[in-house]
Formats: sequence, C-alpha cells, structure tokens
Amino acid sequence: MWSEFAAQRQAAELLHRSLKNNRLSHAYLFSGARGAGKRKMAKHLAKAIFCLRQNGDSCGECKNCRLIEEGNHLDVHWIEPEKNIIRIKQIEDLQKKFSYRAAESSHKVYIMEEAEKMNQEATNRLLKFLEEPPQGVVAILLTSNIHDLLPTVLSRCQIVSFHAPSPEAIAERLEQQGIKQGLARTAARIANDMDEAHTLCQSESFAQLRSLVIQLSEDIMERGTYALVTIHDKLLKQEKDPDRIDLFLDLLLLWFRDLLLFLLGQESQITNNDQMEPIQKQALRISQRRLVDGMGTILVTKNRLTHYANLQLSLEDMVLRLQEG
Ligand SMILES: [Zn+2]
Repeated sequence: MWSEFAAQRQAAELLHRSLKNNRLSHAYLFSGARGAGKRKMAKHLAKAIFCLRQNGDSCGECKNCRLIEEGNHLDVHWIEPEKNIIRIKQIEDLQKKFSYRAAESSHKVYIMEEAEKMNQEATNRLLKFLEEPPQGVVAILLTSNIHDLLPTVLSRCQIVSFHAPSPEAIAERLEQQGIKQGLARTAARIANDMDEAHTLCQSESFAQLRSLVIQLSEDIMERGTYALVTIHDKLLKQEKDPDRIDLFLDLLLLWFRDLLLFLLGQESQITNNDQMEPIQKQALRISQRRLVDGMGTILVTKNRLTHYANLQLSLEDMVLRLQEG
C-alpha cells in the first residue's frame, strides 16, 4: 500500500494521486540517494498500475501483483546496467518488446535502474522514445546521481525527489544484507549514506575500532593510567589516517550517547544495542552530567583535529578531561 512508504510520503502521495486521477505522466525520474527506496517505489507503482483488485494501489496478492514482484510480468520491463553501462541494445530490446505486444493491456511500464549509466548512444535512443511515447507506456528512470543525466533527459521526465534514507532505514537494509544488527546500526548512524555505511561494515577495522572505543571508555571509568596507555598503544601506534581517528571519535561520541540514553531509560534508542552488558556496567558508574560534558569534550577534540591540532596532545588532553569529569 502507498501508506507504507512513511519515509517517502510526499513521493508516494504524488504518485498515488496521479494514478487515482488518471493523470499518470509518461515518464518519471526518481532521484535520491542510494537506499532511499526508489526501486521499491518503482515496483509498487508498476503493481498499482496493473493491480486487479485495488484502484490506484497494489493489493500485493493478485496475479499481476505477484508476477511483478517476481519480475515475470510481460508488460513490466526492467533495465539495469550490464558491466556498469546501459547500452543502446538494451533500449532497442525494450522498444521491440513493447511494439510486439501493443494491444494486450492498456499500459506498459519500463523501469531503468541507475539511468545515469546510459552511454551516449543509449541516451539518444531513449530520448527519441521519450519524445514520442507510445500510447500507455510509462517510463520510470531511477538515479542517485541526477547531475550525470543530460538536461534533455531531465526535461522530458517528471522528477520525483526522494529524501535521503534515515539511519534506521539504512540499518534495516544493511541487516537484510546479513550484517549484524549492532554493527549495522552503528555504521548507519555514522555514515552519510547507504554506500558509506556499507563500506564501513565491510572494513575489518571498523569492528576493531568499535571494540577499542568500548575498552577505552571502560579504562576512562577506572580513572587510572590505562586510558592513556590504550590511546597510545592501540590507537596512535596503529592509526595514522586522520579520517580513521575522526571515525574513532565519532564512535566514542556514539558510545557516550548510548550510556546517556541508558541512564535516561531510553534503551530502545541505543545504537550499540548488541553491547548492552558493557553499556549497563559502565553507565551505572557515571553521572548524566559527566556524560554530557564528556560528549562536549569529544566534539571539541574533533573540531581541533580538523584544524590540524597536534594529534597526540589533543587525544591525551581529551582522555584526561574525560577522566576528571
Ligand atoms: Zn494486486
């Protein structure tokens, strides 16, 4: 149902309205970051066009809805890059397929994923197809890089913008790809988009940095000299890349936030929710006030380092401040 697209309500409502009022555009361009749900919405629009039971929506159960779900509906054609390029042959195949079966149903839909990957020839061929759209044909082009598409393509489509996906939506997608929940949630919070979150999860050192953060926090609670040793031996000796240090600080900030959420009784909001044991143990040894101050200290350190402050001194200073609280 259209109402299920809570994160992209505007886009869903626009499409639902056009369909209900019989004012479907002959070409749409869904534009938005990867992971925003463009593909899912394109599939839903196709189902809603062909659904045998619902008027302007999809029941998800009738023959047409099921065939589209499985990718087997004859009047719904998918195009995606082959070896990273969409070629003219793929557009020609589409045209051929749609011209053969002219009279069987009132609509024909084609969905092109990563439309910006069309080469010049394919673009030219598609433009002709868009200029003289055969009766009942609906084009749905998807892109996460709208600036790579020619203005001539954009001007022939109705552009539907998708919001960047929320951290929750990104985490859910990562989990569907088999990434463990705690790691997926952490990466989704830190990354700016789906691609970045996915890359983080794939890197071995991301999980290591996260463990290191938990250990450092533990050492800070002890208020001994361990925390400084940890910073030296486990971080400064291993990581020279400023981006990695910044990532480490982001993870530390997220960890402090989780400790605070625990103290506030908002456990469902906790990101590192696969680490409830250390979270509980550490949170009970620190006050809300110290955590809030600590988060401020971490942010100041992040800011200093972007202005090329001395790395070692800045981190030592941060640890001492976090211990004093
Ligand atoms: Zn249906």
